This record gives sequence, structure tokens and C-alpha cells, in this order.
Amino acid sequence: MAHEKILVVEDEEEIRELIAYNLVKQGYRAIPAETGEDGLRRIRAEKPDLIVLDLMLPGVDGLEVCRTLKRDPATEAIPVVMLTAKGEESDIVAGLELGADDYLTKPFSPRVLLARIRAVLRRKAEEPRDEEEELRIHDLTIHPGRHEVSVKGKSVPLTATEFRVLHVLAQRPGWVFTRYQIANAVHGGDYVVTDRSVDVQIVGLRKKLDAAADYIETIRGVGYRFKE
Ligand code: CA
Repeated sequence: MAHEKILVVEDEEEIRELIAYNLVKQGYRAIPAETGEDGLRRIRAEKPDLIVLDLMLPGVDGLEVCRTLKRDPATEAIPVVMLTAKGEESDIVAGLELGADDYLTKPFSPRVLLARIRAVLRRKAEEPRDEEEELRIHDLTIHPGRHEVSVKGKSVPLTATEFRVLHVLAQRPGWVFTRYQIANAVHGGDYVVTDRSVDVQIVGLRKKLDAAADYIETIRGVGYRFKE
């Protein structure tokens, strides 16, 4: 059984209780918080293992809570799963760029939320991967040292930028990256890249990957993800 402490910041009582009920049923400890202020207090006092954070809160909203906790070295490593309403893609993008780990759009099923929570906790517990290590995923092999990619053993010629975009995504399958995060990871932050130029790289990559192109998933309005 899991014993991790999960903070649930949600002003809607029904949703908050539904989440807490399901967490407890799975063996987690659920800490409810009704407002952003209360959430921040609980984060500092309880040091939860994960935070389920509704973005639409009265007063201090979810994005502000996320910004505050990611700025504090004592709380920055705590993973965050955001809850958003439909059509809030810009908030999702903002939250991911602030350091949130995942998001769910309402309405969601408690089972899906639990699966996401488990996945985020698992990924956080995994050792950071050696960036130079050969990466095998699905039928792709990526050799960072040699800048080579092969699909089913057949070498695929990529440009240096395409290679880095693929490597960034494939290192964290299942994670959603915003275009800004991809551009940043590829160029080390000191290079201005537009959203559009990331899209152009993805188009090129998919064309060259051919049958393996489907591993790069488009998350509408948000960014891209490598299939888990
Ligand atoms: Ca709300």
C-alpha cells in the first residue's frame, strides 16, 4: 500500500472530497485544502509528497500557488498535478512552464487521476538518466554520444536540432513538454526560438521517423509528448 501524503487544493467541496476519498481508498494520506492560501500553508507545514492543484481558486489561484512553491527551495521538488477546466490551455502551458508535472482536464475520472499520480510519483523516484547513455524505447534506439537514431535497426539521418528535440522528448516518455520548454532544452535558454520553429522541427522529425512518427504525440494547445 502507498502511504504518500497528497495535498488536494480544490475549492469545490464535492470534487475535493471525491479525490480525497479515492486517495484514502488507495492507501494514500489525503490532506484537503480549500483555498490557495490554505494550500500554501499546508505545503510548508506538511511537506506533502505530491500536490493535486486546482487552477481556478478564489484568491490566490493555482498558478500563483505553483509559482510560489517552485520558487522556494524547500518545496520546489514537490510534484504537482494540475486540475483545469476545458479551454484553459494557456493556463496549462503556464503551469507546465512553472514546473508542474502533469495536468488533468475536468471532468476526469478518479481512476485516471490516481493513475497519473502513481505515474508522477514513480517518475520522480526514478534515478535521473545518464544523458549520454544509449536510449531504447519502443523500436527506436537513440545514441546521444554519436548523435544517431535508428528505427528497427535502420539508421535515420536527422539534423542536429531534430536529434535534440527527439532526445529531449524520448528521455521522459509520457511527459508533456510545451514548445517553450522544448526550445529551451534544445538551445540551452540563450537562443530565441518561436513556437512555430519547434513545430517545424517536429514536422521534419515525423517525416524522417516515418512509421515511428506516431511516438511523437501532439497535445493540442499545449505542446508535445513522447508516447509512453
Ligand atoms: Ca475551482
